[in-house]
Amino acid sequence: MKLISIVVPVYNEEDNIRHFYEAIREVMEKTIYDFELVFVDDGSKDTSRPILIELENEDSRVQPIFLARNYGHQAALTCGLDHADGDAVIMMDGDMQHPPELIPVLLRHWEDGYEVVQTIRKTTEGVSFLKKATSAMYYKVLNGLSQVHIQEGGSDFRLMDRRVVLAFRQYREHARFIRGMIGSMGYKQIQVDFVAPPRFAGVSKFSPKKMLHFAIDGILAYSTLPLRFGLYLGAVCAMLSLILFFTVILDKFVYDDAVPGWATMTSCMLFFGGMQLMVLGVIGEYIGRIMEEVKNRPLYLIGKDKPKDVQKKN
Ligand code: UDP
Ligand code: MG
Repeated sequence: MKLISIVVPVYNEEDNIRHFYEAIREVMEKTIYDFELVFVDDGSKDTSRPILIELENEDSRVQPIFLARNYGHQAALTCGLDHADGDAVIMMDGDMQHPPELIPVLLRHWEDGYEVVQTIRKTTEGVSFLKKATSAMYYKVLNGLSQVHIQEGGSDFRLMDRRVVLAFRQYREHARFIRGMIGSMGYKQIQVDFVAPPRFAGVSKFSPKKMLHFAIDGILAYSTLPLRFGLYLGAVCAMLSLILFFTVILDKFVYDDAVPGWATMTSCMLFFGGMQLMVLGVIGEYIGRIMEEVKNRPLYLIGKDKPKDVQKKN
């Protein structure tokens, strides 16, 4: 019988885990497949850990992995994909915002020969207008800047065939934007729309700061266009300063009207100084990222309480 792995990153989800487990069991036991439920505990500080150990003792299909600290959603997903044994792997959130009822639909597309079944979140119930608007704007900017097209609303709820999972394991970059990585890999892909319900319990684990970093990662990992923007900006400024230079010369030699131009000087200095700092900042961002990649540290560390079979694999 074919095995389906369900990979779920969890961070402080004590009130969701059991409910989620029951929902998955109900859906998966109606299918013709075996399943394993790979929970990646991303350094939870609440009682998620003991709940996962309890579930593992009750049901051997539950396979928790405990990370050494909080590495973030994308690293936790990567860890799950590294340890999933299934013929197909489904990754989803553990807060019921990725509806388990959609799993049979994903499986059907897989049976039809699709190697990546990507879900697209059409709307999220109970999300503020501001979050929706900034998200829409972000995808416009991202797609304008990068070579790969990243669908607006593309979520990290997807099915991947084992072949795709094995390919994905070779991608070890630290700036992870998994939806872009998989989008750029090719393979036979199909999209499925869904409406995300509000969280079952708890609050979102993404602070505005985490969201902003994730958004910047997405842009800088997929495009060197901001660097080129610096180049264009420099060229335009050089042109402008040339015009200024001629005006000054004209003032001095033709009109003999060389007033001590304090205002012009100051504003030019501020303008060009600011511009240079900005472009330096953009370059700095890239250098920082190069440093991260060059260090080549592991993407995540697994903590002490490893289940036996994970220990075996490492
Ligand atoms: N998550 C994680 N590590 C983190 C933040 C979140 O593993 O640092 C998990 C979280 O437990 C959930 C999923 O990633 O299962 C999505 O997070 P969340 O629901 O907070 O994000 P949102 O739906 O608000 O975008
Ligand atoms: Mg959520």
